[in-house]
Parts: sequence; structure tokens; C-alpha cells
Amino acid sequence: MRPRLFVVTGPSGAGKGTLIRALAECRPDLAVAVSATTRPRRPGEEDGRDYHFLSEDEFQRRVDAGEFLEHVTYVSGHRYGTLREEVDRILASGRSCILELETQGAKEVQATAPDAVTVFVQAPSFDELERRLRERATESAGEIGERLELARSQAEEAGDFDHVVTNAAVEQAVEELGALVDRALGEPSAAGKLRAP
Ligand code: 5GP
Repeated sequence: MRPRLFVVTGPSGAGKGTLIRALAECRPDLAVAVSATTRPRRPGEEDGRDYHFLSEDEFQRRVDAGEFLEHVTYVSGHRYGTLREEVDRILASGRSCILELETQGAKEVQATAPDAVTVFVQAPSFDELERRLRERATESAGEIGERLELARSQAEEAGDFDHVVTNAAVEQAVEELGALVDRALGEPSAAGKLRAP
């Protein structure tokens, strides 16, 4: 089967990372691309596993060299981006590639790689999203507020993506995501169709 590019997007705290990791763990035909970021490392995070942690200068150098498939500056002021070489390496190994992106980057990929399958992951409610962000406690109160505000505007964008998965119960959401992947892998490429006119 031809490997494909999957984009999982949605608000911070919806559980994108958890779902993707759970899915990739049980599926050797999928791999998650490691993004680059300028944000500081959180406790427990590893360079090269969770992110490629880059300085501002190094990130900009790679932007200038055209090494990113997409890149954004997030509400926090930190930069995030997908390195082309990450995606190419995974696809060349015969595996499908999953990207975890906020919505602006996801739209950029939709425009440049129309064959990508996009999935918007949402929490069952804003109260639950807030609870998850506070429980994770990796951001300051101000940053959590910014992420929640962003989530409200992002919710209106859900319809711009191919699929929406509501992450109420992780196991069920992983199953749903896996089923979407299976269906997409069984489908012929839509690239020609979508690139028209
Ligand atoms: P966090 O700081 O919580 O790890 O990530 C913040 C947001 O950035 C999340 O919504 C995450 O999905 C998104 N993100 C992570 N990597 C990338 C990337 O390479 N590109 C874009 N556009 N967003 C990313």
C-alpha cells in the first residue's frame, strides 16, 4: 500500500499527542514526524524524540534554507515547524507519516500537499479542555488562557478538515482514528482530483 501523509490538528489539550502516540505504538506502518520548536523543553521531554529543540537562530536559518514543509509562530511567541527531511525519511521507509499541527500549519499542509488526510481532534467540551490543560500544568495560567482563547476560535475551523474526532474516551478515539487511517490507506490517491482546476 502506498504510504500517505496524515495531519492531526485541533486545539492544544484536545489530546492529539496522546491519540497519535497510542495509534503509532500499535501500528508499524505509521510513524510520527518529530517537529522542530524554539519553545523550552518541558520536564521529561527529550531532544529528537519529542521535538527537535532549536534556538531562534537555528530555526530561522532552516526557514531561510527552505527546510520546512510548514512553520508557524504560536500564541506563546514560540515557533514550530515540520522539517521536510523528517517527512521524506518516513515516507521513503514505506511508512505513512503523521503530523501533529495546530490549525494554521495544518491548512498550510492542505494547500501544499492536497493528498494529505486531515483530522481535527476536539475535546468533548471547553470545560473539559480547560480541565485537561490545567491538569497537564505545563503552561502558566496566562498561557493556558491564551490556549483556551485560541481553542474557541479554532473550533469554528473544524469543518475545514476532512474528519472530526471527538476525544471523550481515549481508547474509542484511537479506534476511530485508526479506522480513518485504514479507510484512507485503502483509497486511491485523491491528489489529481483535488489539485484541479
Ligand atoms: P506544545 O507546546 O503543547 O507542544 O505545542 C503547541 C501546539 O503546537 C500544539 O497544538 C501542537 O500540535 C502544535 N505543533 C507542534 N508541532 C508543530 C509543527 O511542527 N507545526 C505546527 N504548525 N504546529 C505544531
